[in-house]
Amino acid sequence: MNAPDFMSLEKLRLADRPLIVCDVDEVVLEYLTPFTAFLRSRDHDLLPRSFRLHGNIVERGTGSVALDAVVDALQEEFFAAQEHWQTPAALAVETLMALGRDADIVFLTAMPPRHAEARRRLLQRIGLTFPMVATEAAKGPVVHALHGGRPLPVAFIDDIHYNHRSVGESVPDALLVRLMANQVFLAMAPDPGERVCCATCWNEADRLIRAHFQGVRRS
Ligand SMILES: [Mg+2]
Repeated sequence: MNAPDFMSLEKLRLADRPLIVCDVDEVVLEYLTPFTAFLRSRDHDLLPRSFRLHGNIVERGTGSVALDAVVDALQEEFFAAQEHWQTPAALAVETLMALGRDADIVFLTAMPPRHAEARRRLLQRIGLTFPMVATEAAKGPVVHALHGGRPLPVAFIDDIHYNHRSVGESVPDALLVRLMANQVFLAMAPDPGERVCCATCWNEADRLIRAHFQGVRRS
């Protein structure tokens, strides 16, 4: 597990305006769909049997479940090659560009930091130049370190239930938005809990976030 570099977080200058902390895989970039295509190019496949990768990645031909070490190696290879595979999720780029006029945006991506440069290049190529933090540590403490005790609204967007739980515990006033591009796996996702607002698309996420920012400002 890599600890987040809290010193580098402190260097990240936020303006005196709301903050949006946004996950990348399955939120800004498609992940499961291109990862499945990548697996097929490597004689494997991802079967949508449950909301996890391990146990659902199989060898094509034999259908036998790939060993955990093989799954880890395939994920590592995909992260290294992500620039050739991953594409923006529908409406992600234009919605974030518009939100970025009214709020600070920081990408928080759960990925080994060694692949951060490839991800930055990919995001920049599609026009998203907002700062990015790559860490495999729990997301709640990272969002807390970013936002601190600022009397400003904060929103967190992610597809994974345990990330919402982590941020909800560390930053109790954060708006938690669940958003996920892949509809097949979304249908199998665990219930994220009643604190989490489930958006079906970026338009709905945009409405939830803007309403939260307005409400917090009025109160
Ligand atoms: Mg994600």
